[in-house]
Amino acid sequence: MTAQAGDALARAAEAGIHRLSIPTPFAVGRVNTYLIEDRPLTLVDSGPNSGKALDELERQLRAHGHAIEDLELLVITHQHIDHLGLVDILARRSGAEVAALDLLADYVGRYSEDAERDDEFAESLMRRHGIPEDVVYALRSVSRAFRAWGSSARVSRPLRDGERLELRDRRLEVLHRPGHSPTDTLFWDAERRILLAADHLLKHISSNPLIARPPGAAPDAGARPRALITYLESLKATRALPAELVLAGHGDPIADHVALIDQRLAFHARRAEKILRLVADQPRTAYEIAQAMWGNVAVTQAYLTLSEVLGHLDLLAEDGRVSEVGGDGAAPVRFRAQPGAGHAGPAP
Ligand SMILES: [Zn+2]
Repeated sequence: MTAQAGDALARAAEAGIHRLSIPTPFAVGRVNTYLIEDRPLTLVDSGPNSGKALDELERQLRAHGHAIEDLELLVITHQHIDHLGLVDILARRSGAEVAALDLLADYVGRYSEDAERDDEFAESLMRRHGIPEDVVYALRSVSRAFRAWGSSARVSRPLRDGERLELRDRRLEVLHRPGHSPTDTLFWDAERRILLAADHLLKHISSNPLIARPPGAAPDAGARPRALITYLESLKATRALPAELVLAGHGDPIADHVALIDQRLAFHARRAEKILRLVADQPRTAYEIAQAMWGNVAVTQAYLTLSEVLGHLDLLAEDGRVSEVGGDGAAPVRFRAQPGAGHAGPAP
């Protein structure tokens, strides 16, 4: 840990917020949950549904003088399984209330059904954008196997965007900031200027604006959400907050969120230009673009890279620089640069 991260965590601890870092089986590594020593005794996120994660959480709670049975409020930040898998077990053992954004409450209430429909949505999106059938099939198996690390949970305290969650010593404003997932929720302590941001903003990696089925919607790949555009709008709203400390869902705290958000905005703008050059060269499917960008990673991480590419194509389409052709029958959708799109021509 850097000295800067140590200082930031010490500042959080002074405010009664402790980072508990829980192992996951996923590429992202550990997930951060936050213990808030207040009344009710609160845990923000829980880690994945595994014995290893549960043991580790228990051990770290004990280091702060608490047991799982002491927890009184469990808060969920978004729909990804590394953040919510243990909620049901913790709620049963502690009798804690479970609070989450209303959209997310419905989703986790029927987790396995929703996860199945998410997979159907993802598959039709992958086919529509030229990902070969064997890759789609392989990803489906991976997704099914991962599902065991999630769990459904009953949310007893649904939250509305903009409402305030009152604890004895603090007030947390509930902010719906979708993009990384449709249900991303931030918790903002305006008095202390501390923001619990989960995966909305991460220090060491750019958050993935994953394209996900809108909660409650049928799996229709033709009407896909524009996750990156949504995400960038959310990021700009977060940029305007006078935060002094941002506690993230993975990795170290963020002390200067404005500079980090500016870096992310510049990164996405550069990547859009790179993709524009690729389609100016020749019309391509999103899968072909992903392969040109990342080679084999476009196969092993097909959905992630597809989401990235489509997000940037949405940005370009919004500016009228790229258009979509085909996608009516079996042939995949292709993207081409509009005449006069600017910066056209082969990649240097
Ligand atoms: Zn996430």
